[in-house]
This record gives sequence, structure tokens and C-alpha cells, in this order.
Amino acid sequence: MTRFDLVVIGSGSGLEVSSEAAARGLKVAVIEPGPFGGTCLNRGCIPSKMLIHSADVVETIRRADLFGIKAEVSAIDWGFIIKRVVDTIDADAAMVERGNRDNPNITVFKSSCRFVGPKKLDVGGEQITGDTIVIAAGTRPRVPDIEGIRDVPFITSDEALRLPKQPARLVIYGGGFIAAELAHFFGALGTHVTIVYRGSRLLRREDGDVSTRFTEVYRRRFDTILNSAIVRAHRDGDDIVVETASDGSKRSISADTLLLAVGRDPNTDTLDVASTGVAVDDRGFVKTDEYLETDVPGIWALGDIVGRYLLKHSANLEAAYVAYNIFNPDSKVAVDYHAMPQAVFASPQVGSVGLTEREAAEQGIPYAIGRYDYYDTAYGSSIEDRDGFAKVLVQRDTGEILGGHIIGSEASILIQEIANAMRLRLSADAITQSIYVHPALPEVVQRAFGSIST
Ligand SMILES: Cc1cc2nc3c(=O)[nH]c(=O)nc-3n(C[C@H](O)[C@H](O)[C@H](O)COP(=O)(O)OP(=O)(O)OC[C@H]3O[C@@H](n4cnc5c(N)ncnc54)[C@H](O)[C@@H]3O)c2cc1C
Repeated sequence: MTRFDLVVIGSGSGLEVSSEAAARGLKVAVIEPGPFGGTCLNRGCIPSKMLIHSADVVETIRRADLFGIKAEVSAIDWGFIIKRVVDTIDADAAMVERGNRDNPNITVFKSSCRFVGPKKLDVGGEQITGDTIVIAAGTRPRVPDIEGIRDVPFITSDEALRLPKQPARLVIYGGGFIAAELAHFFGALGTHVTIVYRGSRLLRREDGDVSTRFTEVYRRRFDTILNSAIVRAHRDGDDIVVETASDGSKRSISADTLLLAVGRDPNTDTLDVASTGVAVDDRGFVKTDEYLETDVPGIWALGDIVGRYLLKHSANLEAAYVAYNIFNPDSKVAVDYHAMPQAVFASPQVGSVGLTEREAAEQGIPYAIGRYDYYDTAYGSSIEDRDGFAKVLVQRDTGEILGGHIIGSEASILIQEIANAMRLRLSADAITQSIYVHPALPEVVQRAFGSIST
């Protein structure tokens, strides 16, 4: 059995730890069955945002008449849109893999692996072990238990980002950020989109006001069927027919494509982490301590597979902590997740950080709220954003920023200043007393804070 100083399972954010170990001269193994770079590069953040930019361009053209410009979209070159993305990410993935293979301290195993004993891994028939092992094997799209689902050619986000042909009629099952982003992508480019979701509001983990506004806008854009589950699926010629059920009512929807976006499952089962004694929580995510070490000394975990935030910047943050903690065992540092921002690159965009109003109330924190509409700022009205607003929460007695929630143009950018101020544990004064460029969009954030009455 081959022994390594350090083994990293998964080539997403785990690579930060393997490259640090290799730079220190350790004998390192990286195990990855798929393209290097993990979900973010190959099946997640990057391809989805590249594709969504095409949708944003179409939307800008369609809104041009609001600004006195007559313009129209004469054709969608689907093949070009997909090729631009695929060529870019495939080249990047190949470059990352080459970088690992060229490193004399790293052995690349292009195969999936699973634990077969304490710190013992089977990698495509070969057994290896590591003094230190980092589990960074991520998650995969969940396939819900629906009658007939295995008999229809459904897709998940894995396939949705590389479809050779644009769907004409698409049913998306789910109401989280992946469903919302892909509905925007396909819908803006001309696909007829129907969203089926079990919840009463899309993006239900966002602050209630944001989620409600987002749902209103999506109801204007798409057939949005809420409080409903898909209970059955079958084929009808080339079509897929799904049957939805909500309280007392049933519907049947035909489409050429069915996209499942109902959540993600951790890869702990396929990795058989129990064989090495690593414990998982009731959802199957790896349990770790505050330093990201598992129950088994020397086995660490990071990223989506630990299930705290399923976000790339969270996985990167955790990777930096794991790299530090492995090599500084006498001065380990607990992960500081404070002020973890997130964004939904739909239309409208959503950006959020910190507590929602409901969470603040549930935690019994005395809070005050500020809110400001984009349209009431000079820039917001100049770009005709009539749906957007920023909502902020501060602690009533200290003014400490508790959370920020933005829906509207460039929300993914605007949220950053709130996240930065929160991360430094600054009070609202940091924003209200700063000098803002007039009449730029960030004024909506400053005015939201300025509108707080404590
Ligand atoms: C459609 C989509 C859009 C997204 N958009 C965003 C976004 O805009 N912003 C954001 O922050 N996050 C986004 N995410 C989430 C982001 O992609 C993940 O949070 C991030 O990639 C997690 O990194 P990771 O290293 O934990 O896991 P991954 O990147 O998933 O890497 C895990 C790797 O482990 C490998 N692996 C799995 N099982 C085994 C095994 N048994 N043996 C060996 N290797 C194995 C996999 O092949 C994979 O390459 C998006 C995700 C999706 C699906």
C-alpha cells in the first residue's frame, strides 16, 4: 500500500491544501475522477455566470425601449453561447490538472475513491493511505423520489450548463438559487419556463421581504407554480409530462426538458466515510470541530461536504483554515464565518449577508430596520429599477450591523460593502458617515442605513 504524507480527496477547494503541502516538500496525493477545479469551475459558479451574462445582454436589449432605443434580438446563437463557456472552462480545468501533474511532489489519481478501512483508501483498485487526509469531495445534485423519474430523461444543473440544444419548454423543479438563476438564463433566451416549487415563496431562505418581492417578479416572468410537488413523471412521445399536486388540485405539464434543482446531497455515502470512522450529521454531511478536523485525528474536511455554507468563497475560506491548522497544530484557529455574503445572479439579482429579520427576531436580538427603494435614488431611477430595494438590520443598542438584504440591479456587488463593514464588526456609522459618490447606485445602501430610526 502506498503511503502519502497528505491525501486530498477532490480537486475543488481542497487543492489549496495540497498545493501548500507540496510547497512544503511533502509527498502529496490528489484524487479526482472528473475535471480538475471541482463544481465551481466545471459545473457551478463560473459556467453559470458566464451563461447568465448572455441572458443579461438579451434583457438589456429587450428593455432598451425604456431608454428611447429601438433594438431587438434577431437570433440566439445557442451553439456559440455554450461553446464560449465550455471552451473556457475546459481549458482552465486542463490547466489546473497540468499544474498538479507537473508538481514533482504531487501524485494525481484520476479516479474516484472510497474508504475501505481506517485512513485506508481504495483508488481505482489501488490502496493508498495518508498520515493526513483532507475530505473535500463536495456534493452532487439530489434526485428526488418521484414516481417514474428514472424513466424520463431529466437533467440537473450538471447537464443544464452544457446543453447542445436550447429547450423550447422547460420545467424547473425547485425554488432555490440554482433554480432561480437557470430560470433567468433559459427564460431570457426564449425558452418557455415553468417553475414548480414546494414552498410558498422562491428563495425562501432569504429575508422574507426579499423573497416575497423576488417571487412577485418571477410570477410576472414565468409560470410559477408554488406550494406544489411533482408527484409523477412519464414520457409522451418526445415530451416529458409531469404531474403536480398541491392542496386538492392537480396539474399536468408537458415539456421537452425537465430540470431538477431541489438540493444537493453530500458525497459521504459514495466515499464510505464510515469505514474510516468519520461521523456524519443527520443530513449526511461530515461532522467536524471548529478547526475542521473530523472525529478521526488527522482527517480533515472542508467545503460543501461539511454543509455549513454551500458556497465557493466559504469552501475557499475553510481551505485556508485547514491548511493553516494542519501545519500549525499548536496554534490552531477556529473558522470565523462571521459575515458570509451570498448572491443570486438572477434577474433581479439578490445579495445578502448576516441575519434575516426573522432570524434576528427568533434569536431575541433587539434590532432596528432601514429600507430604501432603488427608484428613490438618482441612479436607481435612471436605470428604471422599480423593484429593487435594500433592507438592513442593526442592533438597536450598539448600532452593530446584523444583516443586509438587497434585491435589484448589481445586488451582488452592492452587498459587498455591507459584508466588509460587518466582517470588521463596524457599526452603521461606518456607512452613514462615509462619503458616497453621487449619484452612484451604492447610495441606496447608505440611505437604507440612514433611514434607520432607533
Ligand atoms: C449551478 C451551480 C451554481 C453555483 N454558483 C455559485 C456561485 O455563484 N457562487 C458560489 O459561491 N457558489 C456557487 N455554487 C456552489 C459552489 O460551486 C460550491 O460551493 C463549491 O464548488 C464547493 O467546493 P468544494 O471544493 O467543497 O467541492 P467541489 O467543487 O464540488 O469539489 C469536489 C470534488 O470532489 C470530487 N469527488 C467527489 N466524490 C469523489 C470521490 N469519491 N473520490 C474522489 N473525488 C471525488 C468531485 O468530482 C469534485 O471535483 C454553485 C453550484 C452550482 C451547482
